[in-house]
Amino acid sequence: MSVTTGKSGRGRAAGWTTFTGLAIVHLGALCAFIPGTFHWSAFFVMIALYYATGAWGISLGYHRLLTHRSLRLPKPVEYATALLGVLALQGGPIEWVSTHRAHHAHTDKAGDPHDIHRGLLWSHFEWLYRPNDARLSLDEQHRLTPDLSGDPFYRFLEKTYVLWTIALAIVLFAIGGWSWVIWGIFVRITLTYHITWLVNSAAHYSGYRTFNTGDESTNNWWVALLGWGEGWHNNHHAFPSSARHGLRWFEFDATWLTVKMLAWMKIANDVRVPTPAMVRRHKRDSPRGHDH
Ligand SMILES: [Zn+2]
Ligand SMILES: [Zn+2]
Repeated sequence: MSVTTGKSGRGRAAGWTTFTGLAIVHLGALCAFIPGTFHWSAFFVMIALYYATGAWGISLGYHRLLTHRSLRLPKPVEYATALLGVLALQGGPIEWVSTHRAHHAHTDKAGDPHDIHRGLLWSHFEWLYRPNDARLSLDEQHRLTPDLSGDPFYRFLEKTYVLWTIALAIVLFAIGGWSWVIWGIFVRITLTYHITWLVNSAAHYSGYRTFNTGDESTNNWWVALLGWGEGWHNNHHAFPSSARHGLRWFEFDATWLTVKMLAWMKIANDVRVPTPAMVRRHKRDSPRGHDH
């Protein structure tokens, strides 16, 4: 019992830190409404960083590469990709990957850090800062990520992850002033937060289900469009180790295009996708689930 008490005690402190951090980022984004802070250059910096840190860093990097190992990249490229993920300010790679592996191990059940049955707001962002028994202790994080926590580079990123965003903010300020900081840091991070969170909330709530995965995951087209293909989430829960999430012709998957480009350039190797037979078998063995 003392372990549990210790964990939730730490959880409460960490909860306040996270809540304060999220509040600062959202308040910073509101500064975009202050007259005179908008410049088109800042907008394009935001879009470029949104792609680099969201599509590349989180979707391709943290999720498809580091969590599920659905493709392989040369180590220096993998490390650079992880660094882009760090700049999305969603936690270090060890914490992010272990939390997401726990989500797949206990999807929508006890032990899932953002179980949809606890409500849309819970699965969207309340799980991050409210008392949450399914949040992982440091020991559990390391146990679920031997591939990352055994690597000194990832342990270094884990310790320093906030500093990289501060360094980027200083660089943006030096080049473009407050306008670039507001759009390139605060607006971009807030936007990327909510898009990532929608995968945990909306794509476990509304959309269609191609596969009966035994959980609430759905294929949600608008989350997929905003979130670089991550909204084809029912497909993803059916085939977690697939680098491709959009499986039907109309399921546009921006991250998959990036993976295909990297494979064409011979940078990505061992790109994993389900064979048509595997897809057929999964559909046959699991009659179509209910639509929302
Ligand atoms: Zn999920
Ligand atoms: Zn996943």
